Amino acid sequence: MSLKLFQETFGEAPAVSGWTPGRVNLIGEHIDYNGGAVLPMALPLGVDMALTPIEDDLAQIVSAQFEGVAVRQLSETASHQWSDYILGALAQVSPAQGWHAAIDSSIPFGSGLSSSAAVSVGALRLAREALHLPKLSAKEIALTAQSIENNFIGVPCGVMDQMAVSALAPGEAMLLDTQTLAFEQIAIPEDWCFVVHHSGVHRELSDGRYAERRATCFAAAEKLGVNLLCQAPISALEIENNLTDIERQRAAHAITEHARVIAAKAALDQRNLSGFGKLMIESHASMRDDFDITTPAIDQLVDVSVECGAIGARMTGGGFGGCIVSLVDAGHKESWRKRFEERAAGAKFIC
Ligand code: ADP
Ligand code: MG
Repeated sequence: MSLKLFQETFGEAPAVSGWTPGRVNLIGEHIDYNGGAVLPMALPLGVDMALTPIEDDLAQIVSAQFEGVAVRQLSETASHQWSDYILGALAQVSPAQGWHAAIDSSIPFGSGLSSSAAVSVGALRLAREALHLPKLSAKEIALTAQSIENNFIGVPCGVMDQMAVSALAPGEAMLLDTQTLAFEQIAIPEDWCFVVHHSGVHRELSDGRYAERRATCFAAAEKLGVNLLCQAPISALEIENNLTDIERQRAAHAITEHARVIAAKAALDQRNLSGFGKLMIESHASMRDDFDITTPAIDQLVDVSVECGAIGARMTGGGFGGCIVSLVDAGHKESWRKRFEERAAGAKFIC
């Protein structure tokens, strides 16, 4: 608990404290920056945070998941430290206000479950509350948190993660239109069970491959004459144009993934479990064959999950490692999990 850590570290109770969930993206990968629709769900795992404003211009930050107390000047830039995300959020709220801050999180970081969005959204909300600033909408908080990742940290991510963690409660999902940021909250049917496993493969989002995919998508959109790739119809992939082979492949993923998300929402509305599962499997194949963001180990885990009886399975998150999400019938959840974990060496149950 961040409250206990706060008390132990700073010798007093915090002024404010709060909890923010992580998220798992059920379908719609790498299309939040292409204007596509996405379908994330908030996790029961999250980030606990406690804050007190202090009369100083330093932020003293502790985290149960990292060593030591980070002491940061509010005017500092990001410097590849774990405390960068919370520092960026605190500095955005007030450029010279000092803080005592404590974090404790159950979201494994760097796994595609949006610990970074939970930290920045949580810090923005709490710091504003502590300073008695007007409450912002979920959308305003999400856009501010995204700008911290984009401009302060330097990760060119879309807005899906921040929207999901700022607007949803655990177990709720949303269909998010990433062009208008309009969203519809969706209740998951009780007999549908989404299970997250870590693949054991670790990845780095800021290592350039994410940015490279993004740049290729923007180049393809320009050649297809649209602002954002997901505005192009599927037929655009078949007509003569001057896309390079790589651009055509990346465009194929983005455009078909958007269509799969729309179909997945319809499957949810119709409680069509097998239809939704099939779309997850197709989404994984598209990430593997056209977007080239999976790894052989993850491809194998997805196959094993389905062989063991999952209705659908796919990698989730930015790719090159991280987690897979499987859809199983709630009645068969335990038997599926036992079979899967026996066969899937290296996969670790997350939630
Ligand atoms: P993810 O897929 O989990 O969002 P990122 O690489 O985008 O992975 O973000 C991970 C970063 O978020 C960490 O390096 C750290 O800066 C911050 N973070 C995540 N969890 C914590 C935590 N428990 N305490 C402090 N900072 C955290
Ligand atoms: Mg992140």
